[in-house]
Amino acid sequence: MPLPLGHTAIGLITYESSTGESAFRRWKRFIFIAVLANLPDIDVIIGLMFKWNGNAFHRGPTHSLVFALTAGFLACFAARRWLGIQGISYRLSAMLILSHILADAFLTDSSVSFFWPLEVFWSQGHAGWTDIVHSIIFEGFKDGWIVLCCSIGIVLNRFTRLYLAQPLNLLHIKKD
Ligand SMILES: [Zn+2]
Repeated sequence: MPLPLGHTAIGLITYESSTGESAFRRWKRFIFIAVLANLPDIDVIIGLMFKWNGNAFHRGPTHSLVFALTAGFLACFAARRWLGIQGISYRLSAMLILSHILADAFLTDSSVSFFWPLEVFWSQGHAGWTDIVHSIIFEGFKDGWIVLCCSIGIVLNRFTRLYLAQPLNLLHIKKD
């Protein structure tokens, strides 16, 4: 399953491919992208805090389209109003959160509650603090292939923008 490292990589490629800008240029923006790309898993922390079980509320409402649209709006508002991060639109914020939900849905065997409140699929089993911390620290390497694919995607995206889009732009300008 994608862990924070994998979700962050997916968030970075989502950002770069939709804005055409480097996600690494400003540290505040980078952290914002990483937080939004992992935001749905806040349900793990809630489960640990209230039930001592990270799976208690996992993959419920925070892994839904409704959450992506609502939290995306709030995150966009916070980025502009309080955090002073430029270039963050509502669409982008929602897409970053959605990237997490879709990655969970397509890269793992367990379902997400995409159409919550019409459906809900809670995670099964028990995961305590040590299980969660252990998997984040010691199983992050399993996301290596996701990081590799996203890195290749980011390089290809930048290459396409630099060397393929520009000649087309020049042609367009000449025509005018
Ligand atoms: Zn998740």
